[in-house]
Amino acid sequence: MAEEVRREWFEKDYYEVLGVPKNASAAEIKKAYRKLAQRFHPDANRGNKDAEERFKEISAAYDVIGDQEKRPAYDRVRDAGAAGFAGCGGQEGGPEGWPGGARWQSVDAGDLGDLFGGLFGARSRDRRAAQTRKGADLETTATISFDDAMRGSTVPVKITGPAVCRTCHGSGAKPGTSPTTCSRCNGTGQVSVNQGFFSMAQTCPQCRGTGRTITDPCPTCHGAGTERRTRKFSVKIPAGVRDDATIRLPGRGEPGQGGGPAGDLFVRVKVGGHPLFGRKGDDLTVEVPVSFPEAALGANVQVPTMNGPVTLKVPGGTPSGKTFRVKGKGAPRRGGHGDLLVTVRVDVPESLSKEEKALLKQLKDAQKASPRARLGVS
Ligand code: ZN
Ligand code: ZN
Repeated sequence: MAEEVRREWFEKDYYEVLGVPKNASAAEIKKAYRKLAQRFHPDANRGNKDAEERFKEISAAYDVIGDQEKRPAYDRVRDAGAAGFAGCGGQEGGPEGWPGGARWQSVDAGDLGDLFGGLFGARSRDRRAAQTRKGADLETTATISFDDAMRGSTVPVKITGPAVCRTCHGSGAKPGTSPTTCSRCNGTGQVSVNQGFFSMAQTCPQCRGTGRTITDPCPTCHGAGTERRTRKFSVKIPAGVRDDATIRLPGRGEPGQGGGPAGDLFVRVKVGGHPLFGRKGDDLTVEVPVSFPEAALGANVQVPTMNGPVTLKVPGGTPSGKTFRVKGKGAPRRGGHGDLLVTVRVDVPESLSKEEKALLKQLKDAQKASPRARLGVS
C-alpha cells in the first residue's frame, strides 16, 4: 500500500472534485467522472487552460477513487489526516502503523520526499515555481509585397488580448497603493498545515501562492494586473525575408502570472507575388523570351533584375528552356545576395511579315536534316 500513497491525497478531496458523496457507489463515481470528463475534455475546449486544468484534476481524482484498490487506501489517508486535525495541539504522532511504523512530528514537506525515498513523487518540489508562470506566446500574420520583402520594411501589427493593465502597470493594486506581503504566508506563498503526524507545506490559500495581498484593487483590472486591449507594434522585417518566415518579438506575448515573464509574439510573414519574378530560396527566377535566330546564332540579350536590366550572353545553339545563372542578382541574404536564374524560351511569332515568311521558307529549304531524325521519323 505504501507505494500507492501520494502526497496529493492529503491535499485534494477527490470526492469533491467529482462532486460525489464520500459513500458514493463505484457506479456513481464512474457516471460522475464520465459526465465531467466529457464536459472538460481538451478536444471540446481547445486552448482553454482552465478546462485543461479541470480535466487533469478530474482524471487524477478518478484514477484514485475510481480504482477499487486505491480508493480504500485513499480513504484511510484522508481519515488519518482528519483525525490528526481533530487532535492537533502538539501531541506527538498520529495513528500507528503509518509507513514504517514511524511517529512523525513536524517535518518540512521539502524533506519528505527524501525521507520517503520518492514516495510522494518529485512533483511537489515544483509547486512554488508553478505559481509564477510565463505568459502565453501569441501569433499573428503580416502580409507584405514582393518588393518590400526584397527591400526590407517596417509593418504595423495589431494584437487584441490580455495585456499589462495600463492603470496599475500590472501590479493589480490601485494607483498610489502597492501590494503588501501576504500576512498568512509572510510572502513565501506556502503555509504549513498540520496533518496530524506531521505538517505539510501547502499553497497559501489567502494569496494563492503569489505571496502578495492586494488590499485596494486596481479599478481597471480588479486586481488581475491584466486587461484586454489592442496593442500595436511596428515589426521590422529584414530585406530578403522568405514567404512564411516567422519573426519573434520577445516579451510581446501575453503577460506572465505571479511576476512571471511575458510570452513572445511570433509574426508570420506572408510575401505577395511579382508579375515577373519568382523565388527559389534566396534565388530569384525569371523567364526571358529569345527569338529563334538569337538562340541559334547566339546574342547578348537584356534581362530584367530587381535593380535594373543587365545583359546576358546567350551562346549560339542554346535550346529553349535552358537556364542561366546571373550571380548576385537574387534576394538579399546575410553577407550578400542570391542569384537570378534566367530561363530562356524560344519565342515563335504569331504573325509574320511577307519578308520574314520568305526568309524562313528559304531557311526551311536549306535545312537538310529533320529535327525529328533521331526519333526515326521524318
Ligand atoms: Zn490594473
Ligand atoms: Zn500567502
